[in-house]
Amino acid sequence: MHTDHSQPKGVNDAATTAMSERIGHIKQRMAQACARVGRSPEEVTLLPVSKTFDDQAIRRAVSLGYKRFGENRTQEIGQKAPLLADCDVQWVVIGQLQTNKAKEVARLAHELQSLDRMELAEALDRRLQLEGRAIDVLVQVKTSPEETKAGLDPVELIPFLRQLSGYQTLRVRGLMTMAILSEDQSAVRRCFAQLRALRDQARQEGIAGIELDRLSMGMSGDFELAIEEGSTEIRVGSAIFGARDYPA
Ligand SMILES: *Cc1c(COP(=O)(O)O)cnc(C)c1O
Repeated sequence: MHTDHSQPKGVNDAATTAMSERIGHIKQRMAQACARVGRSPEEVTLLPVSKTFDDQAIRRAVSLGYKRFGENRTQEIGQKAPLLADCDVQWVVIGQLQTNKAKEVARLAHELQSLDRMELAEALDRRLQLEGRAIDVLVQVKTSPEETKAGLDPVELIPFLRQLSGYQTLRVRGLMTMAILSEDQSAVRRCFAQLRALRDQARQEGIAGIELDRLSMGMSGDFELAIEEGSTEIRVGSAIFGARDYPA
C-alpha cells in the first residue's frame, strides 16, 4: 500500500462526499424550480456563500468545481485569501459595507453584489483607480419592509444607475436583493417579483454602459421561489456548508 499524495488535502474525504451530495440535492431542486416555470437550468448559477466557514470547507467546494465564493466581510476575505492562494478563488462581496472598507474591496474582491449608495460607489471608484482595476457590481435593492434589510430604496434605482454609468471602474451587471424573512411565501415571492419588475423597468431606460442581465436573489431558505421569479443566481450558504456557528 502507498498513500496517494497527488490529491490535495481534504478533497477525497467523507466531508467532501457529503458536500457533493448536498450540492447535488440543491441542483436537483434548482432544476425542478426551473422546470415549473419553463426555464432552462443553465440560466441559474449557484454561488456558494462561505462566510464563517474555514479554508478547508472552501477547498472542498473548490475540488467540486467552484471558484467564486460569497463573503460578507472584507476582514474575513483578508484572512482566508492567503490560505487559499493556490486555489484561484474569486471573492464575491455580498454583505453591507461601510465606506471605509472600499480599499479592501478594491484590493480583494472580484465582484460586489451589495452596492447600495453613491458614497460607496465614489470611494470604490477612487480605490479601484489606484489599483488599476475594474470590478463587476450588482446594485442591492431593498425589496423587504424589514428595517434590518439593506439596499437602495427602489424609487432611487434609476437615478442611481444613471450616476453609476459614469464610472469605468464599476461594471454594472444587474441587481441583488434579500427577501423578507417570513413564513408567508407570497410575501417572499413579492420581493423577488419586485426586483425583476424593477430590472425590466430600468432596462427600458436603456442607460449606456449598464447591463442588467443578472438578478442575484434566493438563499438556502427561499431559492426555489426566487428561481420561479426569474433569479439568475442564488446565494447559498447553510444548505451547502451546514449551519453557521455564530451569527454572520
Ligand atoms: C448569508 C447570506 C446568504 C446565504 O444565506 P443561507 O441562508 O445560509 O443560504 C445569502 N445572501 C446574503 C446577502 C447573505 O448574507
